Amino acid sequence: MGKMDVNGRAYALPQNPVVVVCVDGSEPGYIEAAIAKGRAPFFKRCFENGTSLIGHCVVPSFTNPNNLSIVTGAPPSVHGISGNYFLDPETGKEVMMNDPKFLRAPTLFQKLQELGKTLAIVTAKDKLRALLGHGVKMAPGKAVCFSSEKSDKTTLADNGIEGVNAFVGMGVPDVYSAGLSEFVFAAGVKLMETMRPDVMYLSTTDYIQHKHAPGTPVADDFYAMMDSYLARLDAMGATIVVTADHGMNAKHGADGKPAVVYLQGALDDLLGKDVARVILPITDPYVVHHGALGSYGVVYLPASADKAAIAKHIAAIKGIEMVLTKDEAAAKFQLPPDRLGELVVVSTKNVTVGTSVERHDLSGLKEPLRSHGGVSEQNVPLISNRKLTVEAGRTYRNFDAFDFAFNRVAEKVPA
Ligand SMILES: [Zn+2]
Repeated sequence: MGKMDVNGRAYALPQNPVVVVCVDGSEPGYIEAAIAKGRAPFFKRCFENGTSLIGHCVVPSFTNPNNLSIVTGAPPSVHGISGNYFLDPETGKEVMMNDPKFLRAPTLFQKLQELGKTLAIVTAKDKLRALLGHGVKMAPGKAVCFSSEKSDKTTLADNGIEGVNAFVGMGVPDVYSAGLSEFVFAAGVKLMETMRPDVMYLSTTDYIQHKHAPGTPVADDFYAMMDSYLARLDAMGATIVVTADHGMNAKHGADGKPAVVYLQGALDDLLGKDVARVILPITDPYVVHHGALGSYGVVYLPASADKAAIAKHIAAIKGIEMVLTKDEAAAKFQLPPDRLGELVVVSTKNVTVGTSVERHDLSGLKEPLRSHGGVSEQNVPLISNRKLTVEAGRTYRNFDAFDFAFNRVAEKVPA
């Protein structure tokens, strides 16, 4: 049995197909509710005969840092992706963190390919595709990587597959739909039936979780859909590990309006206009999900600023859970300090951090806000169809998912 080392961790090479699934925004409770209603027989089998744990994601509890942690097996201090969005210190510009140039560590996929393993990577949102597939040479039957969102734009050179819509039997889904995630699972099943990759990574979108709480009819339908596809992957002999990039909580008041601490506004009042600069790393083009409102923000300050006094001022605002200096946040959350501001601000479970009122486009928010980003969204499921060797009392991380699948299967699995 072969072995490999990636980012300081040792992995045994899998002997039968492995599927790791990152269910975006899967707060604990969604899967349990679907099981309780008899809508998720595959997950029920996992809970009864496989493994079911609650682990922790990376803070900030956002999509990009966590997906990259899962596929590198390492925290952002190692891979460098500290948000969906950041202030690039080299240019002074605020940019999306989708570009592989920001990635500081290899993914497991790169090493697996070097060792001759075949790969399939499917993501709902195209914003993750380039990061997940970075350094992997795409080739039909050997390595494929594509998104539901741009499934009509694939080429053999960039994606290792073309004609994805005909292959999957689905057109390009709307970016704000359950279909964007269903496409990922349908593609996964089709790829397992035809290519049977050694390792598959499926990453969905949290559109449903942003709009529907656990146990509600639309959420139950979504998890029933997911369960039916995972059951087919299970029947084809795959070892499956399901985790999430982050949880999700209601972030609104009794009036249904978003609960927001407008931090740029508060700091403008304190220090003068634009002396401080608040960056929200949740920011992405999918404004209908959250209007760029999450429970985590970073504050850039001039060198002359009294950081301790400003931190104290922010910490006293109702709805703020913690204010950390750059070094404190880097140590506590395993983040790259050079990609943080002087202060890191985390809000409480039902409150978000904003910049200024006029800078948030909340027109897409038709339902009361549900979002993530803070410590309150750190709990995520870690579920497998296999019995795994796990230590009692230890809190595992979502970025242990590949360690679970490669190293910890404690039952005989037919090749
Ligand atoms: Zn997410």
